[in-house]
Amino acid sequence: MNKDEIAEILTCESADIYYKKADAIRREYCGNIVHLRALIEFSNFCKKQCLYCGINAKNKNVKRYRLSEQDIVKSAKYAQKIGFKTIVLQSGEDDYFDVKKMCTIIEKIKELNLVITLSIGEKTKDEYRAYKDSGADRYLLRIETTDENLYKKLHPNSDFKNRLKCLYNLKELGFELGSGIMVGLPQQSIESIADDILFFKKIDVDMVGLGPFISNSETELKNFPNGSYELALRSIAATRLLMPDINVPATTAMETLLKEGRKIALQSGANVVMPNITPQNIRGNYSLYPNKQSVNALDDDSLNLLREEIASIGDSISDDFGTSLHFKK
Ligand code: SAM
Repeated sequence: MNKDEIAEILTCESADIYYKKADAIRREYCGNIVHLRALIEFSNFCKKQCLYCGINAKNKNVKRYRLSEQDIVKSAKYAQKIGFKTIVLQSGEDDYFDVKKMCTIIEKIKELNLVITLSIGEKTKDEYRAYKDSGADRYLLRIETTDENLYKKLHPNSDFKNRLKCLYNLKELGFELGSGIMVGLPQQSIESIADDILFFKKIDVDMVGLGPFISNSETELKNFPNGSYELALRSIAATRLLMPDINVPATTAMETLLKEGRKIALQSGANVVMPNITPQNIRGNYSLYPNKQSVNALDDDSLNLLREEIASIGDSISDDFGTSLHFKK
């Protein structure tokens, strides 16, 4: 697909035909299978000032927390006990968790025979190498937008070129690589979203996590409207059509904007769900945006509901590590 064809998917009157095609392609390449990942949001301390994000360093109204190393490993053990095979460790950019601490955590979790995805931001190549050597398997770093001017406006103390470099370093080091964007950012054009989708292919990612921008009253972007659920769904479908064998999560932001958002995304190209297993008492403080779904406990009932939802669309839950087929090639 070229840029015009992607733009057509993003703008045509009804995208139903593309949702159906993306669903068929996902099923053809990845099977009638949904992969589950257990998400642990282990620290909401962040040194960055991303204009859209509720845990940015300038927000004084957020109650900051860090899980102890023991509690992170305990959460991973719990996830393993209830059947998860992949742990996603996500945090703000928190220098408290230096390389030594991160590597210890990674090594302890690897003893549980779990796959580890890290989503902890921009680090040096040596740091990424140390995580890899300790056993981390995957890394998720959204480019957020490939429009360099817009990137600069949204990230006052960050450098677009460095974020790009991080993605290339991660790739070179052999991580199963994920990136992604927010859809509906202020001043983001359709053209720019089409460029973003082509960028995923260019850097040859193994997974793409994208979701709508959700306006947060605690941030500088508080007066801008939310991104559109539908535009994000069209972006998921276009991404799947462009890259048939990658992993694509139905993100929490999709669920936040629409009650059935996760299920619809899973029928339009997505094949991954990331239930949140962050301990209940602190979970609400990882407040990237308002009404973030998954603030409720992941108990037997909600896991059963998830299983039922997945069965209702003709899928079953994967019982393997869920490595991206694109990465396996
Ligand atoms: N610090 C890590 C990083 O920079 O990759 C990971 C944590 S960061 C909070 C995770 C993701 O949350 C970001 O990549 C961004 O896309 C998303 N996010 C933050 N604020 C958001 C908002 N207001 N609406 C939608 N997504 C948001």
